[in-house]
Amino acid sequence: MSVPATEIDRLRRAGGKRSGKRDLIVDVFLRQQGHLSADDLVDIIRREDQRISRATVYRTLQWMVEAGIARKVDFGEGRFRFEHSYRHPRHFHLICKTCNQSSEFLSSDIEGLIEEIAAARSFSARQSVVQIYGECENCRTGRQAPAIDGARTELLFARDALRIAIATERSGLEFYTRAAAIARDPRGRTVFQRLAGEEREHLGTLEERYAQLLARDPELEAQPTFLFFKGAANGLFAEGAARLLAEGVDDQQALLIGIRCERGSHRFFKRYGERFEDSEGKQVFLEFAEEEKQHLDLLVGEYKALLERQGRDRRRPRPTTIVQGSARRRERGI
Ligand SMILES: [Zn+2]
Ligand SMILES: [Zn+2]
Repeated sequence: MSVPATEIDRLRRAGGKRSGKRDLIVDVFLRQQGHLSADDLVDIIRREDQRISRATVYRTLQWMVEAGIARKVDFGEGRFRFEHSYRHPRHFHLICKTCNQSSEFLSSDIEGLIEEIAAARSFSARQSVVQIYGECENCRTGRQAPAIDGARTELLFARDALRIAIATERSGLEFYTRAAAIARDPRGRTVFQRLAGEEREHLGTLEERYAQLLARDPELEAQPTFLFFKGAANGLFAEGAARLLAEGVDDQQALLIGIRCERGSHRFFKRYGERFEDSEGKQVFLEFAEEEKQHLDLLVGEYKALLERQGRDRRRPRPTTIVQGSARRRERGI
């Protein structure tokens, strides 16, 4: 992973006075991949400059952790290891006890579960560590399976974020195409058609972005999955699209199903995206969350208009404040 020189400069200034030795240690560290122990780094540094002491390397590593350039990880070996943290999303580790190689992954489902448990126990979680110990495929089978390359983690995160966004967009397109086909209310049909059109357009943009990402690193596609997400394969709208096929779904119910899907999708991409360090994957998530928010607002407006057209609001007082409006929406389960 290459860190822009200006960014490293900024990080160095934030961390204190400039020093030639420190600069060299930082530069060497950033050229390494994976999870290094302090002694690994000492050995590598000494190959470049014999005069740098072990204590200086240790001190600089500590400083890098504080400055957000390095992250300390403990694989239960009785010593810490260090990995890049600049634009390197937080992640969990699979650690092979035979070859001591570790590989990285993320799972929104595991993170969601941890959040749920912490909330249920009124616990304010600061950091969670998930480490899976065992034997890697290479050691187990003797075959050379591709390992996650630490230098690629940022790109892998962007790749997987795009894959999830594309799957969601595809299932959204399927959903709105189906909803437009069954809609009886002409205005409702127009809205579903418009949303299907938007999904198609966004899908094209995302696929183009995905192709550009692969062009930057031809081996990216073959790397193992980094970001696991249960709903990723079929997309967040798949269940909604299936529900549209049920007997007797009317326009109003179709809008409600759409609202639930868009709301779920918006929340997932926003909450997940907000938690990451600045990176391309984070950008993908947040931009996508914004698109889903626009669809959600459109559907909620359409739902209200449909109810008004059906004259269902006549016997109820009109909402005068936003609070009442959202309370009413909650009553109807949207
Ligand atoms: Zn192994
Ligand atoms: Zn790691």
